[in-house]
Amino acid sequence: MTKTLDLKRLRADFPALEKSMRGHDLIYFDNSATSLKPLPVISAVEEYYREYSANIHRGVYEMSGRATMAYDRAREAVKRLINGTDGTGELIFTRGTTESINMVAAGWGNANIGSGDEIVISPLDHHSNIVPWQQLARRTGAILKHIPLTAGGSITREAVDRTISSATRFVSITAMSNVTGHMPPVDYIVERAHAVGARVLLDGAQFVSHHPTDVKALGCDFLAFSGHKMCGPTGIGALYGTMDALEEMDPVQFGGDMISRVTKDDAVWAHIPERFEGGTPNVAGAIGMGVAADYLSAVDLGAVAEHEKVMFHRMYTALRELGGITIYGDPPADGAEDFRGGIVSFNLDGAHPNDVGTLLDQQGIAVRTGFHCAQPLMDHFGITGTVRASFYLYNTEEEIDRFITALQRIRPLLS
Ligand code: PMP
Repeated sequence: MTKTLDLKRLRADFPALEKSMRGHDLIYFDNSATSLKPLPVISAVEEYYREYSANIHRGVYEMSGRATMAYDRAREAVKRLINGTDGTGELIFTRGTTESINMVAAGWGNANIGSGDEIVISPLDHHSNIVPWQQLARRTGAILKHIPLTAGGSITREAVDRTISSATRFVSITAMSNVTGHMPPVDYIVERAHAVGARVLLDGAQFVSHHPTDVKALGCDFLAFSGHKMCGPTGIGALYGTMDALEEMDPVQFGGDMISRVTKDDAVWAHIPERFEGGTPNVAGAIGMGVAADYLSAVDLGAVAEHEKVMFHRMYTALRELGGITIYGDPPADGAEDFRGGIVSFNLDGAHPNDVGTLLDQQGIAVRTGFHCAQPLMDHFGITGTVRASFYLYNTEEEIDRFITALQRIRPLLS
C-alpha cells in the first residue's frame, strides 16, 4: 500500500523552505528546474569535505579507503532507486542528464550508427535530448525522425508506429516532459524499438525524481537522470545502461582511472563503469546523490507521485475556473493511468510569461518562465514561452491556493 506523506515532517528537512522571499513565505514551484535539498544530503556532502575529502581508487591510506567506500556505496544506492542490479557496473556517474545523453550519442552513436540509419526522437523533448542526436546525425549521415505530437503535445502509440521503422537504430525519448508533464507510452516505445533491433534511451530527468522507476520492468537500454532534480547536489547525475548496451559503447573521456594499462602508444580500457568515468569524479556529489536516493526511497516515490497528482488536479481545476488562461498539454483523463506529472504550463491571455513570473516573485512565488529548453515544443504550440509551476514532495495544497490568489491579484496589473 502506498504511504501518505507527512508534509510537516518532510518540510522540516528542507532548510530553504524556512526562507522568505520578498517578505513572503517562499513558495517554491520551480522543481522541474531543480529541487531543494534536504538536511541528510547537505550533511553528507559537508561530512565528506570536513572529514575525509580524499581522492578515490588511488590511496592506500585509510581516508582514501573511506572515500572510495562511500563512492561505491552511493552507486549502489542510486542503482537501488531504479531497481538496477546490485554489484554490477550498470550505473555510471556523470555530471547530469545532459552529459549522460551526450555520452551515449557520442560513445554509442559513433560506434554503431551509420549513414542512412534512423534515429527517432520527438519535439516533446528537452534540448539535451535533441541537440546531441542532431549532431550525431550530422556526423554520420544518419536520418533524424521525429515522433509527431497531438495538438496538445502528446505522443500516441499510433504516432510511435508511424515513426519507428526497420531502419531505426536508436530511439531517445523523454519519460516525462519538463513542460507539460506528459508521460509518453514508454513501455510501448521500448517494445516497438526492440522489435526492430533498435536501442532505447529514456530521458528520466523529470521522471526518476517523481515516480517509482524500475529499469528491469521498463526494459530500456539506457536511462539518463540528474542528481539535482531528485534532492541531490548539482553537477552529478547518472547513466544507467544494461551491460550489453554499455559494452557496445566507446568511452568519450580519456585519461586517468578509465584504463587498465597504458603503454607509450596504446591503452586498454578498464572495466565498466570505471571505463566511462575518466578523471577524478565528483566524489561529494556522488555521495550526496546516493543519500538523496536513499532519502527518496524512504519517503516512497509512489507516495510522492500520488501527492503530485493531487497538486496537479487542484492547480489545473483552479486555473480552468479562473478563465482567460491557456493551459498547455492535453487535458488529463480521469483514469489514473493517464495522469500527467506534477507540472502545469500556462499563459495568462494577453500577458507575457516573464511579466507574470516577475509579479509572482513579488509575492514570494518562484516559477520558471520562458521556453524551458524546449523550443521545438514551443514551435508546436505556436508560442515563445509559458509560465511553469512544478511541484515536489514538500509542496502543499495551501500553497496552490495562495498561488491562485496571487494570480488573481496580479491579473489587473497586466491587462
Ligand atoms: N531532460 C529533461 C526532461 C529536463 O527537464 C532536463 C533539465 N531541465 C534535462 C534533460 C537536462 O538536465 P541537466 O540540466 O540536469 O543535465
